[in-house]
Amino acid sequence: MPNIPWPNGAKIAVNLTFDFDAETLWLGRDPTNVDRPGTLSLGTYGAKVGAPKILELLADEGLPATFFVPGWVVDNRTHVIEKIVRANHEIGHHGYLHKSIDPTNLEMEREEFEKGIDSIKRVIGVAPVGYRGPSGETSANLIPLLTERGFIYDSTMLDDIEPYRHVLSDGSPGVVELPWHMDDTLYLLTSIKFHRPMATNDHVLSIWKSEFDEAYISGGYFNLIMHPQVTGRPSRIRTLRELICYIRKHDNVWFARSRDVATTWLKVANTPGDGPIVSPFLRRSENGTISQR
Ligand SMILES: [Zn+2]
Repeated sequence: MPNIPWPNGAKIAVNLTFDFDAETLWLGRDPTNVDRPGTLSLGTYGAKVGAPKILELLADEGLPATFFVPGWVVDNRTHVIEKIVRANHEIGHHGYLHKSIDPTNLEMEREEFEKGIDSIKRVIGVAPVGYRGPSGETSANLIPLLTERGFIYDSTMLDDIEPYRHVLSDGSPGVVELPWHMDDTLYLLTSIKFHRPMATNDHVLSIWKSEFDEAYISGGYFNLIMHPQVTGRPSRIRTLRELICYIRKHDNVWFARSRDVATTWLKVANTPGDGPIVSPFLRRSENGTISQR
């Protein structure tokens, strides 16, 4: 597989992305958690300590990044959002209260979607151009919705290792997909209510390095998902610094915000994917609109 012809001879585009969920990871699942500060406190850590530590590291390294943020976090942790924007990182859309999308309830999906856009526009003054589905959940309506609302890209899917372009049911082009490669929560997220064994930082680092190595050789794209409440722990900040150092030992690496990768990819590659994924619970009409069965 040939490398993507990125500008300036870059062999690979690297997206460092942070899903800045804060307390919504617990509020979206159970609104009564609002009265349980202990349960919420891991999310609180993400806003209070994790995100600022990540911003310090990015500033030290002089690197751009993308933060996918639920609208609730934009509204309630605005001081951190302002720091992110001042540092010229990108704010992407990540729902409103981090509710997992139910493919049989398209009204809820649209409501979360519109509320999230409104919060970002109100606080930072511009609409987001990228989206990542909370907990990786979407409906078949997502890609038409993103395209209709003028988004440039989605970064929810795991079905490829390189960017591709969605194709709508009428054959017209949709948004760019920036598929992700690895996610820190898979190895490192545990909480008071849901105990899970954690991997060691060295173990995670070795997985991320191996994935990067192959992307560098054969693909040309590497998209890593991290979370301030997970990678923002002190020892993992060191792990992320080690990963950045490792990546930088390679020639011609382009660290970029997701929006810059998507807009550049549209110019240099722009290959179609297989079209939207249609849920068995939904049916598509002649004119391409989707309704519930
Ligand atoms: Zn999330």
